[in-house]
Amino acid sequence: MDEEEMVQGVQEEGPYDVVIVGAGAAGIGVGIAVQHAGIENYLLVDRYAVGASFRSWPAETRFITPSFPSNSIGMLDLNSVGVGISPAFNMRIEHPTGQEFADHLQSCVNYFELPIRENTDILSIDKVDEIFHLETKTGIVFAKNVIWAGGEYQYPSLGGFEGSDLCLHTSTIASYTDLEGEDFLIIGGYESGIDAAYHIARNGKKVCVFDMNSPWAEETSDPSVALSTYSFERMRNEKFEANVELFGETPVKSVVKEDGIYTLTTEDGQAFHSSVKPILANGFKGSHTFVTHLFEQREDGFPELNDRDESTTVPGMFLCGPSVRHDGHIFCFIFKYRQRFGIVAEAIASSLGLETDEFVAAYKSWGMYLDDLSCCGQECLTC
Ligand SMILES: Cc1cc2nc3c(=O)[nH]c(=O)nc-3n(C[C@H](O)[C@H](O)[C@H](O)COP(=O)(O)OP(=O)(O)OC[C@H]3O[C@@H](n4cnc5c(N)ncnc54)[C@H](O)[C@@H]3O)c2cc1C
Repeated sequence: MDEEEMVQGVQEEGPYDVVIVGAGAAGIGVGIAVQHAGIENYLLVDRYAVGASFRSWPAETRFITPSFPSNSIGMLDLNSVGVGISPAFNMRIEHPTGQEFADHLQSCVNYFELPIRENTDILSIDKVDEIFHLETKTGIVFAKNVIWAGGEYQYPSLGGFEGSDLCLHTSTIASYTDLEGEDFLIIGGYESGIDAAYHIARNGKKVCVFDMNSPWAEETSDPSVALSTYSFERMRNEKFEANVELFGETPVKSVVKEDGIYTLTTEDGQAFHSSVKPILANGFKGSHTFVTHLFEQREDGFPELNDRDESTTVPGMFLCGPSVRHDGHIFCFIFKYRQRFGIVAEAIASSLGLETDEFVAAYKSWGMYLDDLSCCGQECLTC
């Protein structure tokens, strides 16, 4: 910490041109873009470690998006976080586990020599006289720009109905194989719920999945709304077909526990019983809820962003990752939100007076600089 000084016992550091909060796929990816854009005075911080969220996925959970080393013809590997990178080539794995992907992110950090500080929890962020103050347990980090990349996984959605506190959120499950019991109730039938159902059913146990919609019946080809191909394949597994019952358009009203038995009641009055905690797979409220004071909110609760993914109310505050929304477009997968890394890096680099034409041309050619959203929302042909 060269610029660190002690002022009345509080460590003050910076100002950096950019501080990126979060060293997951979004933070590492935008960190590489920031470096490519020519910015040198930047820092990545993470409350835990590189890829911490991926590292805490249930052991059996794998990427639903496949990796393939398609880079040689200018198409980035679907799970790549940066130009030139291919997790498929790096790991020789098509659907990595969370652990494997966290290792891959660490190898990106090593390769690009990203300046990263782990075990640094950002407790608050405020902008005072044009400078951001990022409070940590030991002091304050100053920054001219902040990129929030805190992700979703560590901010689960735990409420929503009576008795939801009696349930077990998927993000707290270390392994599905270790779960004891024979009959499971899963609330939520999107990717996490189907993933949980698949692993439990493969162990020969019975599962009921409840969803207020029917993600498995969606007609759209957009994987932000419909289930992925990987999940559809898994649903055709014979143990899934034999052991899993899907209840679409069936919101859960309550869960109660009596004499060691959990009773789940649906809005339409059906009751289901289990001796094990129902599993909550109802998603994440997201870390953007931590920085709401720095963004205007859209009607759906997500941050309102300008066309540079910057706050409309606090200049210099940027958002990267799965909470990025523009109109009806949901950037919740790596192959979607990485396309905005170049936009954010360019916005900051040009505000610092750096020449960005070459950077923008290179990022555009790799599909990492999506500035025209009119192409989004395209459906696949049905042939
Ligand atoms: C089960 C599951 C399967 C998925 N499969 C896929 C898939 O196949 N393909 C795909 O593209 N996406 C997939 N996703 C989505 C994918 O996980 C997210 O796109 C990705 O994790 C988001 O990366 P991120 O960097 O935004 O968040 P994270 O990976 O959560 O990283 C955020 C980082 O910020 C840090 N942090 C948070 N708050 C603070 C703070 N206050 N101070 C300091 N540090 C902080 C955390 O420690 C964490 O390391 C899946 C998600 C789940 C849950």
